[in-house]
Amino acid sequence: MTHTQAADPFAIAGALLAHAAQLGQAHIAGLAEQAVATAVTPQEMAARLDEPLPETGSATPALLDEWLERAAPGIVASPGPRYFGFVNGGALPAAVAGDWLTAALDQNAGPWLSSPAAAQTELTVLRWLRELFGLPPAWTGTLTSGATMSNLVGLASGRQWVGRQLGFDPAVDGLGGRPAIPVVSSTEIHASAVKCLGTLGLGRGRVRNVHAPGGMIDPDALAAELAQLDGPAIVIANAGDVNTGAFDDLSTVSEVCAGHQPGVWLHVDAAFGLFAAASPRHRHLLRGIERADSVGADAHKWLNVPYDSGFAFVRDAAVLRQAFAAGGAYLEPGPGAGWDPMSHLPEMSRRFRGLAAWCALKSLGRAGYQDMVERCVENAQSFADWVESTAGLQLLAPAHLNIVCFRYQPEGLDESTLATLNRANIRTLQTSGEVVVTGTTWDGHAAIRAAFDNWATRPADVDVLKHAVDRLRG
Ligand SMILES: *Cc1c(COP(=O)(O)O)cnc(C)c1O
Repeated sequence: MTHTQAADPFAIAGALLAHAAQLGQAHIAGLAEQAVATAVTPQEMAARLDEPLPETGSATPALLDEWLERAAPGIVASPGPRYFGFVNGGALPAAVAGDWLTAALDQNAGPWLSSPAAAQTELTVLRWLRELFGLPPAWTGTLTSGATMSNLVGLASGRQWVGRQLGFDPAVDGLGGRPAIPVVSSTEIHASAVKCLGTLGLGRGRVRNVHAPGGMIDPDALAAELAQLDGPAIVIANAGDVNTGAFDDLSTVSEVCAGHQPGVWLHVDAAFGLFAAASPRHRHLLRGIERADSVGADAHKWLNVPYDSGFAFVRDAAVLRQAFAAGGAYLEPGPGAGWDPMSHLPEMSRRFRGLAAWCALKSLGRAGYQDMVERCVENAQSFADWVESTAGLQLLAPAHLNIVCFRYQPEGLDESTLATLNRANIRTLQTSGEVVVTGTTWDGHAAIRAAFDNWATRPADVDVLKHAVDRLRG
């Protein structure tokens, strides 16, 4: 067969990509107006989408229409300006464009050799992030799929370091028959860090949880806990807790850790809290972070890039590489090779996440991120002030940064009735289409949390939230 235009296997790409761009653009343009979420059951979603594998295929733009139409009720407008639920950012337009190009380029950002462009872009992005947050330039880093993986990178490095102090190599020898590696954190440790401890063989159930009044670790209690340990330990500090946005006092925590003679690996979970450092107004919340050994953070939250994206920094590059070394004759870097992303995290072949982040940072610059962080915090503060001054609502914690924790508290109701009322109101708000907030338990109370970290949220959207909350005040 001669090579004709029609037989070109890539000719179909133009129509498909143009259609995807058109649908994506229409979706983004409608985000501000559409219902944030709707009540849809698992049965309805299965009825819409579950079907046998197609026997024959056809690559036409219509398949995108088909999926979109069938999936519609289950699409949550979490990148939209009225989503205040989990700490979800909304992807910046430049970041979405970068992400689309990433898929089209389809680079393997594992070995340097697979894409020198991807590897160098990631290095540049990591450098920019260190500059944005004022972190030590000598720290090494890696782009992950999110803060869970960022915590895993930091904690695997910590495990490696502690093991070496105890005379073995956890990555090479395993943990069997070795002395236990103690992990200390506060009662506010994030579920993802606990999950990582399970994955790493350190034990989900083995965390020594130190008291954290108001969400902030008690440094004296931390010192007392460490004093009970003869050997080195991992300490996990929290910079931005999901319930209230509280920060551990990293300055004091790092001093306490330095005072534990056998040594401490200090990991900071700063999934969204790290972004406080982008603003001179809020940077003080992270004072002392430069003394940490590793820091985990998210990019798909406050950097406002598409899923899935996060980053981790580690002080000691050699420890990080020991934790994630990958051998294999066919992987020998060879002459002229540069930085290998895959030697710095669990994955080998991986998505080129650096481009979306590169586009986001280029599109806003340092000043744009400072402005965005400050606007989000102002929105949170405005909502917190309103809650505090409104009868029948109770602010459960100060708005430390960008999260507001509150509840309905009409007079004369006992705790269990209040819990039922608050849970019911969360559900009503979530299915109203107007806003999404999520629930938690704070200080023994059923509580509601609203998070503010979307670049597109305006004060008018915060007013919609206030009105929606107000309407259920009874
Ligand atoms: C969101 C979050 C995580 C987990 O991040 P993922 O992006 O969901 O993997 C960890 N720690 C904190 C404090 C978070 O807010």
